[in-house]
Amino acid sequence: MTAPDGLPPLREVVRAHDLMPRRALGQNFLFDLNLTGRIARAAGPLEGATVVEVGPGPGGLTRALLMHGAARVIAIERDARALPALAEIAARYPGRLEVVEGDALAFDPGPLLGAGPARIVANLPYNVGTALLAGWLTAPGWPPWWDSLTLMFQREVAERIVADEGDRANYGRLGVLCGWRTRAEILFDVPPSAFVPPPKVTSSVVRLVPRAEPLPCRVGALEAVTGAAFGQRRKMLRQSLKAAAPDPGRLLAGAGIPETARAEEVPVAGFVAMARLL
Ligand code: SAM
Repeated sequence: MTAPDGLPPLREVVRAHDLMPRRALGQNFLFDLNLTGRIARAAGPLEGATVVEVGPGPGGLTRALLMHGAARVIAIERDARALPALAEIAARYPGRLEVVEGDALAFDPGPLLGAGPARIVANLPYNVGTALLAGWLTAPGWPPWWDSLTLMFQREVAERIVADEGDRANYGRLGVLCGWRTRAEILFDVPPSAFVPPPKVTSSVVRLVPRAEPLPCRVGALEAVTGAAFGQRRKMLRQSLKAAAPDPGRLLAGAGIPETARAEEVPVAGFVAMARLL
């Protein structure tokens, strides 16, 4: 039996290529093309777009992106075992899928991108998901080369990504970074049972769209301020900020933030204002 794209079902692909999932590579595969289709549609209209996919694995999401009209998919995969399965997809969609074997943390798709819109879509390996996201948000130059990120994370990480100061349980360095440079929202949850093997927790698909003009400040200064403030989140800022600045009172006064405030009470704009004074 074949799937709607004329290729074998993913279960068969994994069996035929002996792709036993490996925990060390964060491998939790999606076999349901309806679900991968939903993720592809969440990335917006794909016609004419170049999609960079991290970790295609056996290709469930890759196939959905191509079926839903992505002009090109550039897929970076660390596990060489997946390459023959991906080559079959490339043969089914001539000229539309380029597979790069390597580590996405060290990969710059810039030279491969064309003139049209480009975006990132991925069911990310959990062990490197936040590092990849932080890298995309802090790479030199803004606006970035991507016009959106549509990414799967563990629900708990997704909540930290979209959190603001109104959500004290989840608001932290990641929320400030994401809120500074993007608008982020959780689109839908995906239960553990959708993955092979099933992870212990629920996952969520998150979409981040870059802000055209984020408040100007240096990434390094913002990271220093949020690192100090959230590193000791129970302490008042006049104390915790000493780890980043010799005179926290100057930063707090300049940003109009009370010395007795705690990190979790300060909106993104407050952190940016302090970073500009650092
Ligand atoms: N996209 C597939 C799916 O949805 O079924 C697989 C997703 S699985 C959660 C994560 C994939 O990322 C695996 O194929 C794994 O080998 C790959 N991977 C892990 N670390 C990577 C890295 N640093 N760079 C590129 N790919 C990586």
